[in-house]
Amino acid sequence: MDKKIILATPRGFCAGVDRAIAIVDKALLKYGAPIYVRHEVVHNKYVVDDLKNRGAIFIEEIKDVPENSILIYSAHGVPLSVRTAAEAKNLNMIFDATCPLVSKVHVEIKNLHRQGYTIVMIGHRGHPEVEGTMGQINSGIYLIETETDIAILDIPKNIEKIAVVTQTTLSVDETKSIISRLKEVFPNLRLPKNEDICYATQNRQDAVKKMAEVCDILIVIGSKNSSNSNRLKELAENLGVKSYLIDFAIEIKKDWLEGVRAVGVTAGASAPEVLVEGVISKLKQYDFNTIENLTAVEEHMIFALPSELRS
Ligand code: SF4
Repeated sequence: MDKKIILATPRGFCAGVDRAIAIVDKALLKYGAPIYVRHEVVHNKYVVDDLKNRGAIFIEEIKDVPENSILIYSAHGVPLSVRTAAEAKNLNMIFDATCPLVSKVHVEIKNLHRQGYTIVMIGHRGHPEVEGTMGQINSGIYLIETETDIAILDIPKNIEKIAVVTQTTLSVDETKSIISRLKEVFPNLRLPKNEDICYATQNRQDAVKKMAEVCDILIVIGSKNSSNSNRLKELAENLGVKSYLIDFAIEIKKDWLEGVRAVGVTAGASAPEVLVEGVISKLKQYDFNTIENLTAVEEHMIFALPSELRS
């Protein structure tokens, strides 16, 4: 039987991840180690370990950054309290690797707050992006994770000024249904002017929907703490396709492939292409020798680096 690998396009690095990694990489090259990074710059084990080996030091608390160091904020963004703490220290330089699409949501909620809106954020509790976004204002913002959480919101139903924002890496379909339920409960709900879920999340999920029609199983390359990678796995499973989330090819088990003719392979927005190549080599060992591409959409987004690191 002809066994094939179907590669999703787009997959892997998005423009925000590309930019964030390039900021750490170029800072290391230009200024030398150590470079301090607040939180994993992106949620990928391979990327983080590689940067650690080159002299990046990942910290959670600003108190752990020595005076006169260089500090970089991760792609997920930081709450204002972290910025304030960092700016109060005698640091040499601070670079902001927050994805511009996350910063857009930060600007949005600060504007809404200034206009007197109560804000509901849809996102995953404890995720650094959610903490960063909610931490742009100090009151009037509520987090919900699921439709069920709407019932416990302590907000009057007839409130006039209420708005919703979302984490950028959620399930597109699930978020739509949470927002439509919110609108039923709060008729004056103001929706985001543009979708908060980013283009990369949307495109990778669109690709998985197409993959689910033609693959027997789906391998998603991404780390366990990567929100957008987890959503790809969930989406495939919801569409009836057994799916596995792995960091490295070595995790692939022979029994996953029994009776399988077409293995779909995709990668979350923080997983580099070298890991996809590793998975292809591993699958070839199990006689998956034909490779096909399935393109949902072409991506051409690029985000500019800070001027100091552009050379
Ligand atoms: S997944 Fe989306 S929001 Fe996150 S870094 Fe990539 S482009 Fe930015």
